[in-house]
Amino acid sequence: MSAEIPKSQQVTTTPVPTRPEQVELSDEKKASLCAQCDEYKNWMITYSPSVKFMFDQIKNSGGYVSPTKINCEICKDPKLGGFHPDLGIQLCANYIPDKWVLNDTLSHELIHWYDNVRFKVDWMDLKHHACSEIRAASLSGECAIMTEFWKNSGIMRVAKGHQVCVKRRAALSVVGHPKCKDMDHAKDIVDEVFRSCFNDTRPFEMIYR
Ligand SMILES: [Zn+2]
Repeated sequence: MSAEIPKSQQVTTTPVPTRPEQVELSDEKKASLCAQCDEYKNWMITYSPSVKFMFDQIKNSGGYVSPTKINCEICKDPKLGGFHPDLGIQLCANYIPDKWVLNDTLSHELIHWYDNVRFKVDWMDLKHHACSEIRAASLSGECAIMTEFWKNSGIMRVAKGHQVCVKRRAALSVVGHPKCKDMDHAKDIVDEVFRSCFNDTRPFEMIYR
């Protein structure tokens, strides 16, 4: 278990979909949560098609990625994880409920990592940040539940549900950026760059996996 990354250094964060109850955890509980998270993490790095694919894509783009730069931690604020260009990926062992959410969260953070390697992202630029959040929410599979939800309502509803989910989750991440004033500001920035960033599905050929 490594130390919590200071908030000022946390470039991107992935918020939890619903705000869970804050409970005080014993040291034993923290250790067991981190051990469970590490086990899931190693499993995903070995077996998850999306995680393995993103590892390959980062390496093929000339980037460095290593399991040692992906850390399971106990997070103070309710969030699933985060990415920092120097520190790597943080997975919040106390807020990730199961290994499938860990798979989506890890895939999400790896898309930020890929963007950082491929596109020379300026993480202090709100539009750059919003663009990467849109891509990460869309391509990680975290909005796939919405896709399932709308499946019976026809293909247009499927696409709409996915986009609504991506916009909402991207705005929830952007609102945590130090230059973002409030939720309305976050939504405006997301809307502004949505079309071009949503349509950029690199390194995937399409959205649905
Ligand atoms: Zn993110």
